[in-house]
Amino acid sequence: MLHGLMMDAPLSIHSLIEHAAKFHGKTEIVSRSVEGPIHRYTYEDSHARVGKLANALRRLGVAPGDRIATLAWNGYRHFELYYAISGMGAVCHTINPRLFHDQIAYIVNHAGDRLIFLDLTFVALLEPLQDELPGVEGYVVMTDREHMPETNLKGAISYEELIEGESDQFAWPDLDERAAASLCYTSGTTGNPRGALFTHRSTVLHSFAIALPEIFSLSTRSVMMPAVPMFHVNAWGLPYACPMTGAKLVLPGPRYDGEAVHELMETEAVNTCAGVPTVWGMLLEYLRKSGKALSHKPSVVIGGAAPPLSMIKGFEEEYGCNVYHAWGMTEMSPVGTCGKLPPSMDDLSKDERYAVKIKQGRAIYGVEMKIVDGDGNALPHDGKAFGELLVRGPWVISAYFEDEESTAAAFDGGWFHTGDVSTIDEDGFMQIVDRSKDVIKSGGEWISSITIENTAMGHPGVTEAAVIGIHHPKWDERPLLVVVPAGDQPPAPADLIEYLSASVPKWWLPDDVVFVEELPHTATGKVSKKQLRERLESHRLPTA
Ligand code: AMP
Repeated sequence: MLHGLMMDAPLSIHSLIEHAAKFHGKTEIVSRSVEGPIHRYTYEDSHARVGKLANALRRLGVAPGDRIATLAWNGYRHFELYYAISGMGAVCHTINPRLFHDQIAYIVNHAGDRLIFLDLTFVALLEPLQDELPGVEGYVVMTDREHMPETNLKGAISYEELIEGESDQFAWPDLDERAAASLCYTSGTTGNPRGALFTHRSTVLHSFAIALPEIFSLSTRSVMMPAVPMFHVNAWGLPYACPMTGAKLVLPGPRYDGEAVHELMETEAVNTCAGVPTVWGMLLEYLRKSGKALSHKPSVVIGGAAPPLSMIKGFEEEYGCNVYHAWGMTEMSPVGTCGKLPPSMDDLSKDERYAVKIKQGRAIYGVEMKIVDGDGNALPHDGKAFGELLVRGPWVISAYFEDEESTAAAFDGGWFHTGDVSTIDEDGFMQIVDRSKDVIKSGGEWISSITIENTAMGHPGVTEAAVIGIHHPKWDERPLLVVVPAGDQPPAPADLIEYLSASVPKWWLPDDVVFVEELPHTATGKVSKKQLRERLESHRLPTA
């Protein structure tokens, strides 16, 4: 091999904020603070405070590789922590406050966090939990002296007190680009949360990728509002990609309600934003009720869960936005696909375009995808065959953090098993049809529970629906439809089956229908199929 003659400059997270401070120094970061008022400063100001914070961390004895946790909303201090912790060689562990308390205790102990930085909102959450966190040496409340509450948290000090008096100059170390930079746990519906440990290299490469025009299209002209929390996969990598490109950052703090999100979008002239369907659903409801508009016609990226078509149409037709659907997962930093339509689709009719937009999108550069059947055989990309989705690439994890069991279950031949079941069509658009543990295995063939649920929810007598597999002596499993009825009088089961038969294959039709008052939900608001299966374990199908 003839080696090329190029510098082997390591990719580093610190270089992102350093670049922003030098070349986009006057560009703003605007945050809704937990204390209330809107806070604004520039990349230059931020970089100086990042230096102070790194000096304070060193004074506290933080060493390379140490895990330092945050429990915080999207705001400027959280942004500073991202850069100071990773930049000095330590690992920024973002904790999701929506996890159950015993899960929070589990991840803090599993990660071996030495310090926890927390927003005022979470003082009451951690006080009763601190006895279960023996490894944590101290707590820093992300506020100033004036707003510092009375608290029994060990060694509690306010953030501003911690950094005041420190120099804003820090000797940033040259780090190996493969060094761990941040840590994020996934909230699995079964078992303990599992840790994804990102590197400087994976973070910078992911930032390059998501900044491209086919994804977030970030530049100095962008005003980006990540309405997805910085405690959930680093707000999809946007706090890194914005400084890289000189985009203005708008951080919504603790308020995700329609009114608060709308206010920031208008006052800051947000022209691009990203979030999950729940947040955009609240915004749509607010806009419709208040009669307000989105004057800057932002691009709205929706991901994290599948949005209903009515949401995509609502933003596009009523508010003049462009909506893009994206898919990813914690283990992928997280972005894997984006659903922008190529010019070859310009002539499609409106309905045909929506049929593409509702799909999860095409793999972005750097992510390889394939779908396989139950025996691991690759399936065709014909938009019909569906199987488990496997991925690989430089920002996909190679193992879970100190968790051999989960690692053994998720990797095979250099591919990561996403646990999602999907189709991929001739144009490369991927569409999720189920989770692999929820798909119903009937006579060796797979039935998509999500497809039946979505169809059933179109029936006027149905408020919510879930489909689970019930053991069947001949077919192994057959679908059972569980329905929360819309009125006092549930629809007739035969009527529901008849309704479904217009849209799903005959052999997918549920063998039975059960009516319930409500469905069990997980901490993240999804239907808990696990609990539902446990509840209906003894249900006997009439066909068995
Ligand atoms: P998390 O790691 O918590 O972000 O969850 C990742 C999982 O969320 C994926 O494996 C999918 O099951 C689901 N997910 C993410 N984005 C989408 C989407 N656009 N449509 C449907 N499901 C999604």
